[in-house]
Amino acid sequence: MSTVSGGVAASREVLVLLRPSGVAGLVPELADPSAPHLTVKDQGVSRGDGLFETALAVPGDHGALTVRKLGAHLGRLGGSAEILDLPVPSPAQWRQAIDMGLAEFARSCPGTAATVKLTVTRGPETAAGLAPQPTAWVLLTATALPDPSVRPAGLRVLLLNRGLDSRVADKAPWLLAGAKTLSYAVNMAALRHAKANGADDVLFVSSDGQLLEGPTSTALLVRRNAEGRRELVTPLRQQGILAGTSQAVVFAAAEREGWPLGYGPLTPADLEGIEGLWLASSVRGVAPVLSVDGEPLPVDDELTDRLNAWLREDRDPGAHAVTV
Ligand code: PLP
Repeated sequence: MSTVSGGVAASREVLVLLRPSGVAGLVPELADPSAPHLTVKDQGVSRGDGLFETALAVPGDHGALTVRKLGAHLGRLGGSAEILDLPVPSPAQWRQAIDMGLAEFARSCPGTAATVKLTVTRGPETAAGLAPQPTAWVLLTATALPDPSVRPAGLRVLLLNRGLDSRVADKAPWLLAGAKTLSYAVNMAALRHAKANGADDVLFVSSDGQLLEGPTSTALLVRRNAEGRRELVTPLRQQGILAGTSQAVVFAAAEREGWPLGYGPLTPADLEGIEGLWLASSVRGVAPVLSVDGEPLPVDDELTDRLNAWLREDRDPGAHAVTV
């Protein structure tokens, strides 16, 4: 996609391919984002066999762009790669490609925020006996930076059965629960189902009744603990959900401020009496949930602002670091 202003074409997208090179391993190379680059035999296309990460790059001083929580995203990608047994570029190779993309994007779209999507697939199908060569690229796309003075829109959420039980990660690792795979058709179908039924988003529930995550977000809730203090809680990660990088930095900041933290397990009954529920993700930020299955929930603007400020602090998640 490109826009034309004043007769000058300004690219709103920047693509960097990680090209295999016999001598140097993988070499980053700028490419035209609107031109075709994949073969129809790529297993990312034919089987959804691959991984991705989406991070947010924000403009800072001197026009440079900085990717928020990049270490956490690269760490999670490495963990997902282990689950898929997929050879992926090293963190240093990703960083080299991202730096090239950021420099080009800052030049062509000064002062603009971007989503930074890293994708790696198992590569083109090969003849028996030949090792596949992964396909990898980084795509930067202009996005409106969430304005700190404007709260993310409130969400009407439906609870939808994911059809897998909460011990799926241990019992059936081949289902790849907890990895950020390219197979997001189910997640997108769940969002379409919500929209067709008058809602905005989804919170998945396991077949044995545990609250899990949204199709593109992590659930956070605030409730009073046994001592009457507010605590910040998220569903148990070992239930086959994605380890959220946003949840990790928000928890790290909350802990620095002395908040008690909790990690599930949670069921829909635990939504009774809470002070608020939010869906958190890197690009949208921390969005308050207005209702679940039509039942209104309390909405606390001050807490929404605080959670988003913690997300923007973007300090090392430390003990809450993302591992899958
Ligand atoms: N859970 C799922 C299934 C997701 O797809 C995402 C993000 O896309 C998240 C949680 C939130 O992750 P993060 O906070 O790292 O963006």
